[in-house]
Amino acid sequence: MHEIERTERVTVVGAGLVGSLLSMYLARRGFQVDVLERRPDMRRESIGAGRSINLAISTRGLHALRQVGLEEEALRHAIPMRGRMIHPVSGALAFQAYGKDESQHINSLSRAWLNAFLMTNAEGTGRVRIGFKQRVQHLDVETGTLSVLDEPSGTTREVRTPVVFGTDGSGSAVRHEVERLPGHTTTQEHLGHGYKELTIPAGPGGAFRMEKHALHIWPRGSYMLIALPNEDGSFTCTLFLPFQGPVSFESLDSPSKVVAFFQEQFPDALPLIPDLVHDFFHHPTGTMVTVKSAPWHVGGKTLLLGDAAHAIVPFFGQGMNCGFEDCVVLDACLGRHTRWAEAFEEFFRRRKTNADAIADMAVENFVEMRDKTADPRFLLEKAVEKA
Ligand code: FAD
Repeated sequence: MHEIERTERVTVVGAGLVGSLLSMYLARRGFQVDVLERRPDMRRESIGAGRSINLAISTRGLHALRQVGLEEEALRHAIPMRGRMIHPVSGALAFQAYGKDESQHINSLSRAWLNAFLMTNAEGTGRVRIGFKQRVQHLDVETGTLSVLDEPSGTTREVRTPVVFGTDGSGSAVRHEVERLPGHTTTQEHLGHGYKELTIPAGPGGAFRMEKHALHIWPRGSYMLIALPNEDGSFTCTLFLPFQGPVSFESLDSPSKVVAFFQEQFPDALPLIPDLVHDFFHHPTGTMVTVKSAPWHVGGKTLLLGDAAHAIVPFFGQGMNCGFEDCVVLDACLGRHTRWAEAFEEFFRRRKTNADAIADMAVENFVEMRDKTADPRFLLEKAVEKA
């Protein structure tokens, strides 16, 4: 009998963006999908959205949503960004359109909304069951046995499963087990820069206080501020800054220094961010890492997808889009093969080169922006390429 068809139940570790979408694809192929997620259910409990409040979804990501009938609804909640709005230290704003006409744009979407939407639709298939506060601690790849901590009770149970999909993000517990096996390698490179999220609240009546249909960029060489619009009229800003050095998260160690820094470098943004000091000192400083691992599969038993397989730095806004594309390609491979191992092997071959390429491009773009500080024109050009 057909080996892929013979497996009825599969397990997905992580109900983030990629794990939730992958579950839908697997359900569509007739599998019963058990998803283990360490966080509480964000639809019932208020939890931080995680890494970024909003994200840019582009053609690759939308294509993946379209295949499972979710593109239209997602776009109803998205704000088209038709180009980049460059904010110089002084002088006029410069708008650079992404394409020849308005149909060429990327879209700003709330991460929390998208994740909840994907989970609800996955469960709506009737074949996906998501267990929350279920932290995978260990995987015996040979036997397919997962040790799962039930966080509310503090007890650990064992789950046996024929196939495990690791979509548990850049710090993946599943990858941690896979990379111990002979012939498997993983490299992780952390950037010397971190990021901090800040908010530009909506104006009266939910009005946008800057151009709504743009990705705003304040390029400044070794650091940079960007802002994406939200449905409620606010903007989420992300400040990218070195951890250490003359201008860094370490050096900006008092409210007066933070305000003075913004006054000097981002004078038009400062009055729009009323909670700057609070947010700067209370919001976590995010780290950015490139993860490259190979191979992503162990025979036909375990497969890594999304950030678990290939986390990239966010300077092209393609991490999630790339993870969504993984789901489309895996689905095609599952359609072509009768054995999991063959499908996983083809998937890895088809995706690895692309994942490495976008990872390198994202870092190169960042390094150029950081190092070539002498030429302001170069900097501006490079910074705007980011989006
Ligand atoms: P994650 O989103 O990390 O989800 C992993 C899930 O697994 C989580 O729910 C987590 O709780 C769960 N989990 C983890 N460990 C365990 C465990 N042991 N047991 C059970 N569950 C576990 N990408 C874009 O395409 N566009 C953008 O504009 C963009 N902007 C970004 C901005 C920033 C600042 C950053 C940092 C990233 C950005 N990205 C963007 C990248 C994007 O966030 C990731 O590529 C995407 O979140 C990857 O999805 P994922 O499901 O693979 O991993």
